Amino acid sequence: MREGELPVFWACGVTPQLALAAARPEIAMTHSPGCMFVTNDGSLRSYSFRALRDHCPCATCREKRSQPPPPPNLLTVLSPADTRPLTLVEMKPVGHYAYTIRFSDGHDTGIYTFELLWELGRTS
Ligand SMILES: [Zn+2]
Repeated sequence: MREGELPVFWACGVTPQLALAAARPEIAMTHSPGCMFVTNDGSLRSYSFRALRDHCPCATCREKRSQPPPPPNLLTVLSPADTRPLTLVEMKPVGHYAYTIRFSDGHDTGIYTFELLWELGRTS
């Protein structure tokens, strides 16, 4: 570290990624964007936003996943939201058994039960 440089630590979460994108510092060291849960048995499970979104349990997403994949020679048309990095905007508890997750693409209809979150989480 050179004189005049200021180290900054920002705790993990969604806000640092947004702050970094706005501040555009020359150098930023971070881990991959994602989220983590510490369960009450003390284990830590981590998630990528993309994995959570790809496993959305809502009826619309389950229906989409059950469709056959498009032929490989067709180009996928992306919406403007598809071209930006996916982030998690908000999580809200549903009773005492689940969370809803609002993603940066606007999708928020999936109810992620604790069992599903447990299955989707990676332990490190
Ligand atoms: Zn969904």
